[in-house]
Amino acid sequence: MTKVPPLSAVDLTSLDERLGVLLALRVGLVAAVLAVAAGMPGELASRPAPAVAVSLGYLGIAAVAELVARVRSSLRVPLHRLLLPADVLWLAWVLVPAGGAIRPTVLLLALELVGVTLLASVRNGIRVVLWETAVLLAARLPWLASRLAAARPVAAARATTAETVLAVGGLWALVVCVGWFSAVNERELRRSKRELAALTAMAAELEARPVDDEILGSLLDALHDAFTLDQILAVWDDGERVEVRKRAGRVSRRGPGADDHGAGDTAAGDPGCPQLEPGWEDDATRELWSTRSPVVLAGGTDGVVADLLPGARRVVALPLGPDEGHRGVVAVALPRGRLPRRTVAALRQFSTLATLALRNARLLAERERLAMLDGLTGLANRRSLDRTLTAEVERARRSGEQLSVVVCDIDHFKRVNDTRGHQGGDEVLRVVARILAGSVRASDTAARYGGEEFALVLPSCGTGGARRVAEAVRSAVSSSAELGGLTLSAGVATLDPGAGDAGALVAAADAALYRSKREGRNRVTVAERVGDPAALTEVGGADPSLPVGSVPSRPEGTVPPRREGTVPPRPEGVVDLRHSVGAPGTGTD
Ligand code: GH3
Ligand code: MG
Ligand code: MG
Repeated sequence: MTKVPPLSAVDLTSLDERLGVLLALRVGLVAAVLAVAAGMPGELASRPAPAVAVSLGYLGIAAVAELVARVRSSLRVPLHRLLLPADVLWLAWVLVPAGGAIRPTVLLLALELVGVTLLASVRNGIRVVLWETAVLLAARLPWLASRLAAARPVAAARATTAETVLAVGGLWALVVCVGWFSAVNERELRRSKRELAALTAMAAELEARPVDDEILGSLLDALHDAFTLDQILAVWDDGERVEVRKRAGRVSRRGPGADDHGAGDTAAGDPGCPQLEPGWEDDATRELWSTRSPVVLAGGTDGVVADLLPGARRVVALPLGPDEGHRGVVAVALPRGRLPRRTVAALRQFSTLATLALRNARLLAERERLAMLDGLTGLANRRSLDRTLTAEVERARRSGEQLSVVVCDIDHFKRVNDTRGHQGGDEVLRVVARILAGSVRASDTAARYGGEEFALVLPSCGTGGARRVAEAVRSAVSSSAELGGLTLSAGVATLDPGAGDAGALVAAADAALYRSKREGRNRVTVAERVGDPAALTEVGGADPSLPVGSVPSRPEGTVPPRREGTVPPRPEGVVDLRHSVGAPGTGTD
């Protein structure tokens, strides 16, 4: 996952902007000195001209520093650091000899202090107040005072010790308060920025890998990075499977999935990760889905979600979905303390994004599924058939098992279209598809090959079994009342382990089919050897002595060893034909 930058690396306002405002503050301070010199010269000194000249000179220095910083950005921070004590010295030179600590103009020192604290940093504010303290105290030293008086003869009296202590104390109180208020604001801004960064990172990750399985993981990671939480839980139920993911939050020091699993999350099956069965939902979660609003639960006592977060005092649960039967919950166990409303609102943004991603993943999977189906019959389409065949040939090669293919073609289908119209023809195709789908096992594939041609891919099935399936289909079609005497022809071919490929297998079954057509239709022909041109020629009609309806190519009774995770070989002589079953994949055996 794209990592959220650490807090220290997150700038809230650009340095350029803040230092630009600081320059504006310097301009304002110089303007204030000029205004005081013009309107109340006594506040500065009996002769304000030197103060005006020094202030304009200082402004010139600040302007040059700004220009240099613009040209060489690497000098910006060092120049800024040099200007800070210069600010204080300039103001002190202008204000202090005239008794600055007790005059209203001391506010200019305070203004400089507030500006630096807010715009640069609290640390810089403390530096400035240290400088100011030093200057105000130094101005009380008799030898320095006499030299200052010589340099700048002024009329006003020097501040007393008590006045100086009061001024210094006031300036320190000011910097502490401003720093504190600014830290509160900044913490809030940093928190928002962190949440936004985590949300953006999660969106980028979901966009890059929109797979159902990874969405909950991304959500857990994002919540972990964005919030201070004890435990985080996500549950997603797609109607068939309930996925549960759990992760310790950044503050967790207890509870399952916390210490044991460190920063990683746990998924179903991991020790410490709770499991849920379909039908797990309770009234609280149903309420969550119907209102689509977050709820706060009392940990451990408030239904199935709270039960999954043992030891939690307070749990915020938010809905994922619901979306066409798919639904879930994301729940977080909160540490002690109050629950700000803005935290719940921010959590909601994450659950909404995850909901959108889960919906997107579902639609994507649905689109993939539909892209593999034939629109008219609901059987696998040609693209899906090609993929299945290639995969099954590869598997048969690895496992050494037999693999058979049956290719069927409806006889004289053009006449159906001519007599019943194209819609009648389509209906016939659907009925034949139902017969085919009902004649195979769940591990077999029934596909529409094109037009009125169909194919069956029968893994772990030898010639005998495949011939019986083809024969059962042929017989079911010819005896179907719905089809009104329509017939089909079929060709069967079996791949010997280690011989031929998908193309040769289909070509052999095709050749056998054409032989069935040539020999009168409504029959099944078995190809003798796949990948052997001589055998194909023979099947193609060179040997009229072959019995119509069956051309056995291998000895019966050889049962291949059962592969792990596959259906057992079809028992000889048993074909359970389910004409009326329409759903593909519900089959025999
Ligand atoms: P044969 O016994 O030699 O197979 O004769 P046939 O008439 O079945 O064979 P042919 O291949 O000459 O004709 C197939 C017809 O199937 C032609 C085409 O109009 C029709 N067809 C192909 N796809 C569809 C479809 O999706 N719907 C309908 N109604 N007809 C289709
Ligand atoms: Mg045809
Ligand atoms: Mg035909």
